[in-house]
Amino acid sequence: MDSMRVITAHCHCGAFSLRHELDPSTLPQPHTLCHCTSCRRRTGQLAVLPVLLPLYFPTSEDHAPLSSYTTCTGINPVTTSWCSTCGAKIFIRTMDSAGQTQWALNLGLIDDPKGLMDVRGHSFLGDTNDGGVSQILWSSLSKYSGEDGDLWEASVPTETMGQSSSLHLRCACSAFSVFLSRPDPTSSPSSRFRAQFCGCETCRLVTGSCIPAVPFISGPLSSVHLHDPLTSNDKPTFNPGKRPAEEEPISLESTLDLSGLSRYESTQGQVSRYFCKTCGASVIYHTAGSPNHIAFNAGLVDSVDGVLAQDWLDWRYEILYFEDAQRWSTVLAWELKDGLAVWCEASA
Ligand SMILES: [Zn+2]
Ligand SMILES: [Zn+2]
Ligand SMILES: [Zn+2]
Repeated sequence: MDSMRVITAHCHCGAFSLRHELDPSTLPQPHTLCHCTSCRRRTGQLAVLPVLLPLYFPTSEDHAPLSSYTTCTGINPVTTSWCSTCGAKIFIRTMDSAGQTQWALNLGLIDDPKGLMDVRGHSFLGDTNDGGVSQILWSSLSKYSGEDGDLWEASVPTETMGQSSSLHLRCACSAFSVFLSRPDPTSSPSSRFRAQFCGCETCRLVTGSCIPAVPFISGPLSSVHLHDPLTSNDKPTFNPGKRPAEEEPISLESTLDLSGLSRYESTQGQVSRYFCKTCGASVIYHTAGSPNHIAFNAGLVDSVDGVLAQDWLDWRYEILYFEDAQRWSTVLAWELKDGLAVWCEASA
């Protein structure tokens, strides 16, 4: 008998770590990348890919207590859990057809993902309108509307494309919800927000992202509103008459309602990352060095134009810290890089 494949995993802050043995005859595990709305908004990622952990039974000695959130898809409850300190998305707990609890671990936390997964296609693209990240990553694999079965066809309603007055971002439980208005043309070179993948190890370990780089939407804090700026009678976040000059620092706390979020400093005194206390979604990246700029996790987009919201988002070809992504998984990193190059070229 072949020796067991040992996997080790940990989150960014180290409160969670795991060592587990997998039967090599079960590897690589066949999987589809899940693009469903629930997976995207519970994580802030564009898609989710967990590794099944047969024979895993957590004990209280394994790690610090995790936070969790349960939703029901159909009749089956799905519980996701995350590190209460750094926000890393850790387990997805479901029930198999025999009623047994099944544990799965987000791929991004595993130290060496090589040989674990055989990605066969994309599921729940019906939730995305535009196909989401299946346009970029493993774009030639089978694309299913639901779990499997019916093939998916793009359904972005062209008559509404670009008609929305704001871009809505929210987490699964809606404790976090903001609207972006077009960046002020006098202070921004583009009418779209920059969207870019970051391959750094920190981004992967505070999210558990299976995609080897984590996508962010970034722009000026002055374009962020708590309510839809054009349709709501509520005051915009900023009083336009008192809009602060670009160089005058705006505080994040005075702009956004952060009460439902936990903050984790991934670089002390410099970089703050916020995640939802209720559903666990990673939501904000903010640096002390650029107080008037903000970045949001791209999986939070709620737009009829589709998950990649190209009318609002200017997706960049370059992957930040690509060498980190490559060090984690050469195969996955290049799959993303090549796919992104082709897609950016085609949609330019
Ligand atoms: Zn942690
Ligand atoms: Zn939430
Ligand atoms: Zn990063």
